[in-house]
Amino acid sequence: MHIIKSRHDLVTHLLSIRKQGKNVTIGFVPTMGALHSGHASLIDESVSENTITVCSIFVNPTQFGDKSDLEKYPKPIEKDIEILIKHKCDILFLPEFEEVYSAQYVHQKFEIGELESKIEGASRPGHFQGVCNVVSQLFEIVTPDCAYFGQKDYQQTAIIKSLIKLTGSNITLKIVPIKRESNGLAMSSRNIRLSDKGRKNAAFIYKALRDIQAEVETRSLVELVNRAKQFISSQKGVDLDYLLAVDAETLNEVTSIKETGSIIILVAVTYEGVRLIDNIFLN
Ligand code: AMP
Repeated sequence: MHIIKSRHDLVTHLLSIRKQGKNVTIGFVPTMGALHSGHASLIDESVSENTITVCSIFVNPTQFGDKSDLEKYPKPIEKDIEILIKHKCDILFLPEFEEVYSAQYVHQKFEIGELESKIEGASRPGHFQGVCNVVSQLFEIVTPDCAYFGQKDYQQTAIIKSLIKLTGSNITLKIVPIKRESNGLAMSSRNIRLSDKGRKNAAFIYKALRDIQAEVETRSLVELVNRAKQFISSQKGVDLDYLLAVDAETLNEVTSIKETGSIIILVAVTYEGVRLIDNIFLN
């Protein structure tokens, strides 16, 4: 695996690869590192579908409103490199801040509409503009054919879809299912900040989602959502941010499964001081 730190070197390297033939495709997996099996599943999918897979590891400061969350973000780079090699990633792009945002870079405002300020965006103002800025820069550098994002950050996938449309790019967005720990907790780089006990207990999040899914054909959606909220709020040391049933396309709230074709439940909690998000499709 090549490890490339400079924007210029990566652009040159990828240009030379593109010259090898018309059928060359580049798959891209943007990450913030502290890699786990969820990230690895994105890499696997890209490797199986493309000539070359590029993974970036860059903890983007502009998408963190909470500076202590940024400071606490884990950075086990040696372990990350091992995982990437094991999963046959071709190139790791490991830039410093200045390689992504040059001195001349002006932070852009992307017109992504109300998607940016609702649900996760309401709890993390500016977060999705930060995501759009970094992803658009990374797309410009890597010029991928396909970009791989996880369903775990579902609203982010909707934002990236809008970003691709807005910028008129022809990148294909691939959304990869959520990888879970054996107890159902969605894998996340933040999980290592939970205590051992907390990591086990945090299974209540997925349980709440599964309980809605299990009864959605026989009970009212509103009743199930309220029951799940009560269940989560009754757990010790949990702060429920949101639990919502939304249309999977528009992310507008829905109250009945008859209202729309595809419904997803989105949830965010803070547990042991760690923000955890998850989701599940109902149909
Ligand atoms: P992050 O490093 O947290 O920015 O995540 C990088 C990419 O990996 C994003 O597209 C995430 O949605 C995806 N990802 C994170 N956790 C998981 C998971 N448990 N399963 C699948 N994809 C994931």
